[in-house]
Amino acid sequence: MLQIRKYQEDLYILEDDRVRQFLLLGPDKAILLDTGFPDSETLPAVRTLTDKPVQVLLTHGDFDHTGRLDDFAEAWLHEKDWPLVHTTARLHPLREGDVFACGAFRLEVVEIPGHTLGSVAFRDRARGLLFSGDSVQKDGPIYLFGPHRNVPLYVESERKLAAMAGDFATVFPCHHDCPITPDYMEKNLRDAEALLAGTLSHTPTPGMPCDTYRGQWTAFYCTEADRLRPAPQ
Ligand SMILES: [Zn+2]
Repeated sequence: MLQIRKYQEDLYILEDDRVRQFLLLGPDKAILLDTGFPDSETLPAVRTLTDKPVQVLLTHGDFDHTGRLDDFAEAWLHEKDWPLVHTTARLHPLREGDVFACGAFRLEVVEIPGHTLGSVAFRDRARGLLFSGDSVQKDGPIYLFGPHRNVPLYVESERKLAAMAGDFATVFPCHHDCPITPDYMEKNLRDAEALLAGTLSHTPTPGMPCDTYRGQWTAFYCTEADRLRPAPQ
């Protein structure tokens, strides 16, 4: 059952204990960030808050974020994640610097490949907000195992985010604590650099084909093979 949390007059958080989506309300449209798991009742929750047209923007292509895409006619997703989704919705590409306006929001796309090759964050500079998808989290785990993820790219993206941390007051991750403070951008970077350098201790993850690498502020699900795989050319 989705819980609806009002964060501001025009910003709602839809969540269960697994994943969350964000609904931004404008006078003539709404923006929905992510659609949840295949069994998430996202659209009914959205319809309790707005009867306006809903534009769907996706932080990345993992199934806990794109599970209810078929409920919508179209959605925006970075092209590098299109191979991850099978949907009846018409997909449009997201690119660095694309801007989506909705009421008092002005969301700008920031490409942050690594967690998936097509991961993006959405930032609103005037309001000091960053919607980070799965790429910045307090505690974690952040998934970094498997062929559609890349550790060196993730570290580069965390560096890019940490460099802009001063622009933000609030970070909205899709998992675990939310909201969190922007110092986690730098903290996640430091842990990710330690992961890449091979200095984090790790233990097998029960029921998962990966180890848990414990950083100081967050954790990663990863394998040695994933950790050592170079960035794609
Ligand atoms: Zn996720």
